[in-house]
Amino acid sequence: MTQVGTAEAPLRVAIIGSGPAGFYTAEHLSKRGNLVAHIDMFERLPMPFGLVRFGVAPDHQRIKGATKAFGRVAARPGFRFFGNVEFGGHVSLEDLRRHYHVICCATGAQTDRTMGIPGEDLGRSHPATEFVAWYNGHPDFRDCAFDLSVERVVVVGVGNVAVDVARILARTAAELEKTDVADYALEALRASRVKEICVLGRRGPAQAAFTNAELKELGELEGADLVIPAEDAALDPLSREALEAANDRTVSKKVEILQELARRPPAGRPKRLVLRFLVSPVELIADDRGNVASVRLVKNALFRADDGTLRPRATDVIEELPAQLVFRSVGYRGVPLAGIPFDDRRGVVPNVHGRVVSQETGEPVPGLYVSGWIKRGPTGIIGANKPDAGETVESILSDVAAGAVLQPPDPDPGALERLLRERQPDVVSFDDWRRIDAFEAESGAASGRPRVKVTSVQQALDVMRRAGRG
Ligand code: NAP
Repeated sequence: MTQVGTAEAPLRVAIIGSGPAGFYTAEHLSKRGNLVAHIDMFERLPMPFGLVRFGVAPDHQRIKGATKAFGRVAARPGFRFFGNVEFGGHVSLEDLRRHYHVICCATGAQTDRTMGIPGEDLGRSHPATEFVAWYNGHPDFRDCAFDLSVERVVVVGVGNVAVDVARILARTAAELEKTDVADYALEALRASRVKEICVLGRRGPAQAAFTNAELKELGELEGADLVIPAEDAALDPLSREALEAANDRTVSKKVEILQELARRPPAGRPKRLVLRFLVSPVELIADDRGNVASVRLVKNALFRADDGTLRPRATDVIEELPAQLVFRSVGYRGVPLAGIPFDDRRGVVPNVHGRVVSQETGEPVPGLYVSGWIKRGPTGIIGANKPDAGETVESILSDVAAGAVLQPPDPDPGALERLLRERQPDVVSFDDWRRIDAFEAESGAASGRPRVKVTSVQQALDVMRRAGRG
């Protein structure tokens, strides 16, 4: 039999999802000099890049620069992009098994975790992930409404997403105008009457999940003072002891930055961004219209859990904080894919080094792989997906060498494309996307912004057609 991965029998790879995990997987595969791979990437939206486009904050344009490298991957021979094509809708797992040796899911973590407290579903209480997708112009979220006429907003959680949300709420119109925040969001944020954004950590400063650069940025906002109550910045005895024992320079630096920021007197800027620790919301309390009016908080104390980590435990100190808008930012969560095993407890596809395994037997499912957040859970910066994808590609290559991948009955690249175009006449190719991209950049240049985003599927298709698609 001809060896798969050669010019005579190219390795046919389907990647589901065009975010960083998908593109890094394609990049690793396309950089193997001795491997001939045909890579087809499927994306539900007409726009590629997943979390880089729809998750990374609009005022972090440098991180969005990763898309340049992804564009170079897309330009390599053997790579095709099928945008506006839904896995589980236009194309099924069975279809892919007929046409590919390898199927890799890189769909990220598309929903959010909940806090599990009363009142969580009241009006004006939202998952941060929705707000993020909204201000980033995600077509599914462009019609969301957030009441920014309120005075105080609470953001629950102290990860980088919480910091992004707080920072975007605290930015001045002038700061936002320099970004590619969605046009409708720019308008809404310009009209915002929010005066105070209160970010709540359930543990202490030494356990905060945000990174040091993101923390520093909160102290450099043009229009908002960062306020950290001195007692919240102080370390409790257990944290101090743990920090000394761990000798972790990054965490020590984080605490140092935080305590330095806490000592700064407010400069009287129009907004306040308050960072608090060792508090947990226990209930959201409604006004008479069923909207959040306040948050009941409990003060926590830390204790050492059996695994050695410091965990929060509620004390009997309760406080009611008036707040009319709440974003919970307590982590993302993966969603199941049709026909693919799913670990519901962890919100990931069960796998060993990227090889999907059966949830019941633990045995590998031939030809199925995962990379990125759907593989390891929603942790790590964009760049962390690169080594993660590398590990998956190592598993793929060793299975190719061992003849343990799928043997598709119809590996002809034309057959799959014909099938897709029958089911979805509006397939978006990477060249089509480049036309949309150019349109966004031109619209941005006209208004002094990095780009003005196309935020609906229909608008994307219209732009693509006007820009001369055949
Ligand atoms: P994260 O880093 O896991 O942070 C989640 C936060 O939610 C933690 O502070 C966690 O506290 C808290 N939390 C969880 N359950 C809670 C509950 N029931 N009540 C109160 N607080 C709760 O998640 P993320 O912020 O969604 O970010 C996801 C990943 O994307 C992270 O790796 C992040 O660094 C990355 N990211 C990076 C950037 C950037 O580089 N600028 C931007 C955005 C996101 P505990 O620690 O106590 O569990």
